[in-house]
Amino acid sequence: PDALSCLFVSSESPSTAEGVISPSRVVGTVVWGIERVVKRALSRSVAPRNVPKNLLFVPVTARLAVLQWAHSSRLTAHPGVRGTLSTIRQRFWWPTLGRDSRHFIASCTVCTQTKSSSSLPAGLLRPLPTSSHLWSHVALDFITGLPLSAGNTVILTVVDRFSKATHFIPLPKLPSAKEMAHVLVNHVFKIHGLPSDVVSDRGPQFMSQFWKEFCRLIGASVSLSSGFHPQTNGQAECTNQIVGRLLRSLAFRNPSSWSEQLPWAEYAHNSLPTSATGL
Ligand SMILES: [Zn+2]
Repeated sequence: PDALSCLFVSSESPSTAEGVISPSRVVGTVVWGIERVVKRALSRSVAPRNVPKNLLFVPVTARLAVLQWAHSSRLTAHPGVRGTLSTIRQRFWWPTLGRDSRHFIASCTVCTQTKSSSSLPAGLLRPLPTSSHLWSHVALDFITGLPLSAGNTVILTVVDRFSKATHFIPLPKLPSAKEMAHVLVNHVFKIHGLPSDVVSDRGPQFMSQFWKEFCRLIGASVSLSSGFHPQTNGQAECTNQIVGRLLRSLAFRNPSSWSEQLPWAEYAHNSLPTSATGL
């Protein structure tokens, strides 16, 4: 399934031959409303001959709706030109797509009021060990000073340093080392398994207490020599700027709603290509 359509399949009826889903097991099909809008406009106009294969031509009357869907909806939360284009190009095409996207974003009022510089603060960063596995090298950081939202004031960001995939976890306050270990078991370990390396900006004492508690919880022996690097890591700072931008876009009208927007911010962040890898 791509970002535009997917099937919900019930597991209650008996399974059929591999790769074939019997119609009785399909509970519902998600087709974005935007595709209906484009098809309706297409039924009243003629597509040119040079439409790329597998893409839907968007007539002039539906282009604004497609741009709004790819740029301003909760699923994407105001990405830049590249992110907006990559969403549109999964399904749609028209000849002036690139130019129209740039114009649309340049005049987006939410973007002009919420985008800030994404350059990283300069500093001496020791190179961190690199990883070639998903979720083996993890960076943690906190975003604090947020308005109270459903009892939360802090976001813990957990970044997989290999894929840049991220979880945003709302918390009532900065956790103790012990609480942090429980949070990591509940939100990261249970899904992705045991990280071999964790970096964070919290002080060395906090990190060593956290790592001891985490190892105790999962029944591993504690190795403090390799498991954590308590120095500044650029990864988390970069992610914090991104989550800040996403939340300012999503909670633009109601800042104290950021808690309920957080799953959308996580989805938007994880479904767009990262600038570091292009994937
Ligand atoms: Zn925007």
